[in-house]
Amino acid sequence: PEGPLRKLYVVHLDLKGAPPRMYFLKALFRLIAAAGANAILVEYEDMFPFEGVLQNASARNAYSRKEILQMLGYAQECGLEVIPLVQTFGHLEFILKLQEFRHFRELSAFPQEICPSNPDTFSVLVQELIRQVMSLHPTTRWLHIGCDEVFHLAACGRCTGRHMNGRLLFAEHVARVAQFVRSEFVGVTPLMWDDMLRHWSSTDLAESGLGELVEPVVWVYAENIARLLPHYVWHMYGRVFPHVWVASAFKGAYGETALVPDLRRHSENNLAWLRIMRTTKIVQFRGMVLTGWSRYDHFAVLCELLPVSVPSLLLNLLLVLHPRWPKLQAIRLWMQALSCPPTVTPDESFVSDPFQWHLGACSFPGSNLFSAVGSYVALQARAMTLYADLTERHGWLTMYNVRHNFSSPWRLLEAHVSVQRLLRELTAFRNSTAHIMTQYFDQFAVDEWLEQKVDPLAEKMASLENFAQNLIARDTWPRRPLS
Ligand SMILES: [Zn+2]
Repeated sequence: PEGPLRKLYVVHLDLKGAPPRMYFLKALFRLIAAAGANAILVEYEDMFPFEGVLQNASARNAYSRKEILQMLGYAQECGLEVIPLVQTFGHLEFILKLQEFRHFRELSAFPQEICPSNPDTFSVLVQELIRQVMSLHPTTRWLHIGCDEVFHLAACGRCTGRHMNGRLLFAEHVARVAQFVRSEFVGVTPLMWDDMLRHWSSTDLAESGLGELVEPVVWVYAENIARLLPHYVWHMYGRVFPHVWVASAFKGAYGETALVPDLRRHSENNLAWLRIMRTTKIVQFRGMVLTGWSRYDHFAVLCELLPVSVPSLLLNLLLVLHPRWPKLQAIRLWMQALSCPPTVTPDESFVSDPFQWHLGACSFPGSNLFSAVGSYVALQARAMTLYADLTERHGWLTMYNVRHNFSSPWRLLEAHVSVQRLLRELTAFRNSTAHIMTQYFDQFAVDEWLEQKVDPLAEKMASLENFAQNLIARDTWPRRPLS
């Protein structure tokens, strides 16, 4: 149905890694709206311009209020409803890592979750976080309060002293946050990730009172959903929650250092969700969130960048929005959405190439970076092979040769040339890719990605070059044994 009862198809924007430039978001919003998405879930983390007591929770390159209003304007023009996300329990690393907020931690060694028994965490920190984010979202109908992966519960002295188990402490804090949202922002319904509730008993969940306060977003990014969500979970949720959301993934689910999304695995995950939603009658599905993680947590390196994940995002949107279409038809529409030339014909099973590198020939926002990452994958493979060949397989540039400065100069000449050639190519790649990335990201994100991906290869090659040079420079050698 249309109107407020229409199911929501939500694209998750995880801004805690490589936050994109505004004009890329504008182009992206147009594409996803054209593909049928009708909402976005915006996870600001440290990219929100916090103020007052929270001002240091913002990254130094956080978006300005003006930029956020601009982004919200683009979303509105495209008919995308905006759902803000604020973590209110765990995954508060971006705040708790700071000296000035460390006293809010549950465990002083781990800056992940707040202590729910410290009265200041709610009254000083959580309320303020919510108020500041909501001040830029005055018309939202939903607020996602996070609450996933709260790994340390009932762990500090204050919490254990209350003689409540972790489940009760969790429920108490979430209920308090949800009640605050509902009373402070009338008409706003809190959403939360479901993983902490999943292993509760039906009675625990019913008695927690959360059924009247929040709507759970049930997330599974694996292809086999039933393995992680046995049917009794749906029975339990169906009895307690009038509405349930689900969450699949289009990036950031199959490896912390992945470069581009695996289309086969992501499409299988999304299609599996379709089957679950079609066959599970005991819950009312409110909407589906296609998550796109940028880092696995605040401290992790970058995984797949958003521009190179546009093909995965559009493919999965088209698949879930047209469940009755044959896959071939969705693929045809996908090629159109990506502005692919007729020469690009994907293998629809994605088995032979789960990354579909030929999509670099299309012209979607992000296609030039997609091509560049394809070149990177080839360079990376060559560098790793050369390194392994020279230091492990061949007999003249192993660590033994280096340690004893003992090798055949003639044997090393060719290796030296190959290493120098690859170093030159890596330098050229770094320069051209920096230029392309600047179209999508600020300098900090560009530098971070290049440092994580390109520099380690260049360092490996530079160390080989250095070793080879020293070994070649020698012209007399000692008698054996060498040690
Ligand atoms: Zn505590």
